[in-house]
Amino acid sequence: MNKDRELSKLKNSILKFSKNFPEKNLVFSDGNKDAKVMIIGEAPGRIENKLQKPFVGRAGKLLDSLLASINLNRSKVYITNVVNYRPDKNRKPTTEEINEFKKLLFKHIEIISPKCILLLGATAALAVLNHIGPLSVARGKWINIKIINSYFDVLTTFHPAYLLRQPHNKKIVLKDLLEFRKKITC
Ligand code: URA
Repeated sequence: MNKDRELSKLKNSILKFSKNFPEKNLVFSDGNKDAKVMIIGEAPGRIENKLQKPFVGRAGKLLDSLLASINLNRSKVYITNVVNYRPDKNRKPTTEEINEFKKLLFKHIEIISPKCILLLGATAALAVLNHIGPLSVARGKWINIKIINSYFDVLTTFHPAYLLRQPHNKKIVLKDLLEFRKKITC
C-alpha cells in the first residue's frame, strides 16, 4: 500500500465533513506514519485548530512528557483524534459525530497499520472499543480487536486533559504507559 497516497485520499474524504463544524481547519495527524505506535485522542482544541496539529496545547505538552517517560517522542509515534475538527465551544463530540468519524478513523488505522494503539480517554474508547461507562473499567487492559481486516493490540488510558484536572491520576497513567512500553519494541 502506498501510505502517502492513501492518507491523502483519506484527508480528502475528511475535508467533506468541515461543513458540519464552525472551525473549518482540518487537524489530521502528527508524527511518523511508519511508527509502530498509533495514539488516538478525542478532538482538537483551540490551539490544535489554530496550528492544525493534534496535541499541541497544554494537554499535548503533558502527552509529550508522558511519552518521554517511556522513551517515546513524536518521531516514534503517529497521533490523531477521533474527530478531526474542533467542536464548537470546546464541547465533547456527540455520539453522532463519533459514529460518523469512526469509519474514517478505522480507515486511518488500516493505513497506518500500527503494532499497538493507545487510546486516550472516553471518546477514543467509545469509537474504537464501543466502550460505554466509566473509563476506569476499560483502562490498563490490553484488547486485541479486529478493525476492517486486521487485528490490533489496543490499550486505553486516561486523557491528558483529564490529568490536568485530576493530576493525582498521573501515577495510574504512568503505570498504563509502562505496560504499553513492555509490548512495543521500538
Ligand atoms: N485533546 C485531544 O483529544 N486532542 C487534541 O488534539 C488536543 C487535545
